[in-house]
Amino acid sequence: MIDRVKIYVKAGDGGNGIISFRREKYVPLGGPDGGDGGDGGNIYLEGDSGVSTLQGFRHRKQFGAKNGVHGKGQDMHGKNGKDLILKVPLGTLVRRKDDGESLITLDDIVSHGQRSLVAQGGKGGLGNARFVSSTNRAPRIAQEGQSGEEAWLILDLKLIADVGIAGYPNVGKSTLLSAVSKAKPKIADYPFTTLEPVIGVVELGYQSFVLADIPGLIEGAHQGVGLGIDFLRHIERTKVIIQLVDGSSTEPTLEMEKVNHELKSYGSGLLNKKRIVAINKIDLPEVQAHMSQLKSEIEDIIDDRVYFISAATGEGTEDLMKKALELISQEQDEKIQEHQEDQYRIFRPTPIASKKKRES
Ligand code: GDP
Ligand code: MG
Repeated sequence: MIDRVKIYVKAGDGGNGIISFRREKYVPLGGPDGGDGGDGGNIYLEGDSGVSTLQGFRHRKQFGAKNGVHGKGQDMHGKNGKDLILKVPLGTLVRRKDDGESLITLDDIVSHGQRSLVAQGGKGGLGNARFVSSTNRAPRIAQEGQSGEEAWLILDLKLIADVGIAGYPNVGKSTLLSAVSKAKPKIADYPFTTLEPVIGVVELGYQSFVLADIPGLIEGAHQGVGLGIDFLRHIERTKVIIQLVDGSSTEPTLEMEKVNHELKSYGSGLLNKKRIVAINKIDLPEVQAHMSQLKSEIEDIIDDRVYFISAATGEGTEDLMKKALELISQEQDEKIQEHQEDQYRIFRPTPIASKKKRES
């Protein structure tokens, strides 16, 4: 799965305004009638819920919008260049490369139909008819069209999952995801099998949420070692994390601490997200034997109830999903109360000239 691409965009140039004078049979000194050039086309990125990856940008990386047409005589305005709209998946973070190495965040595309202007088309130039004044009735000047904006963009896809399953390799993340959702991730008996986060939709009665398998949390992941950092990027936006622990592991609490350490080191508030701890593989007799010991050991640490499940048999998974759903709604309520201004997002830059009509 491609989750970062670099593309080059170039908006259309504005058409030139032109110098022209009326020519009519009985009018030897016709007035100026040079038309304006059309505006160059803009380039927009647009969120589309039907697009799920950035794969489409893998082969083609350069995109240009149409130039505006030059003006013509008889006050004819050149045609505006057509806008170019590039569809991107929801969860696409759009950044522009600065002159230096820094990146400027332009937008965060999270909803279907949300548009972001990434390169503004150049304005068309004015024709000589526009320069008539009381002192100059036959101006011999016209403007050139402006160049369209160009930029290098970095697009990052961040999955918008409500709930992420985090935990050591082999604790049963993939198994849990496929047990409770319609997704069918690959499952095998060795670490790092799942090389990409897999998402699925969990349905509970009339409600549903998106669950993501966050594979491969390993030590040092926050420093970009191994596969970790890419995976961690995907859980930045989840509202709830299910921390899955293998009940048959020899040191479950130590593994929990290590996962905590990863979450903390990564920053972005991962550690402060609502969390549910679930012990997996309760179907195994050896795990059942340790159940009460595990329960008290872990509940001491997390100061909350721990869930016991078997991803393999499905035991306890429905309760766990209900709890997740409850936390999601709690989180949403809190968000609405805390950050009401989030609903009035301002997108930069603001589209201007393209639709502006000019009288002629
Ligand atoms: P992941 O690396 O966390 O995604 O773990 P997987 O889902 O790939 O599971 C790792 C291994 O544990 C596989 O062999 C699974 O069949 C097994 N496993 C997963 N969940 C359970 C469970 O609830 N009970 C038992 N007995 N085995 C499980
Ligand atoms: Mg897996």
